[in-house]
Amino acid sequence: MSNSEVHPPRRVAVIGGGPAGLFAAERLRAAGLDVDLYEAKGSPGRKFLIAGKGGLNLTHSDPRPLFDGRYREQAANVGLWLDGFDAQALRDWA
Ligand SMILES: Cc1cc2nc3c(=O)[nH]c(=O)nc-3n(C[C@H](O)[C@H](O)[C@H](O)COP(=O)(O)OP(=O)(O)OC[C@H]3O[C@@H](n4cnc5c(N)ncnc54)[C@H](O)[C@@H]3O)c2cc1C
Repeated sequence: MSNSEVHPPRRVAVIGGGPAGLFAAERLRAAGLDVDLYEAKGSPGRKFLIAGKGGLNLTHSDPRPLFDGRYREQAANVGLWLDGFDAQALRDWA
């Protein structure tokens, strides 16, 4: 098969319906892909919903770069992620 015959997948399986899986599923759907979400427990987002019972902290209030620095040796990597999607972007998304 040549490269021109290889098509990107149109249907993707996401294993786990926690925040990471739900976010990935949302992004894949937005990109036009079909998504099958598999969750072992009774419903998606269970741990996060339980976390919310005690008062869910959605983001940290530290300003950057103080916040990045909390990740110590990974601060530069985390900073790169946050450049693309920071705490305010998360609040806006939620
Ligand atoms: C008591 C408590 C309080 C918390 N408070 C906060 C808070 O205030 N703010 C905050 O941001 N975070 C909080 N957290 C942390 C937050 O819940 C986690 O960071 C978040 O749930 C991680 O998301 P995740 O998608 O990576 O993993 P998970 O939420 O663990 O999701 C993974 C999912 O995958 C499923 N799964 C695993 N294996 C399989 C399989 N083989 N097939 C199908 N499904 C599978 C699991 O059942 C699970 O639903 C709290 C956590 C706890 C326990």
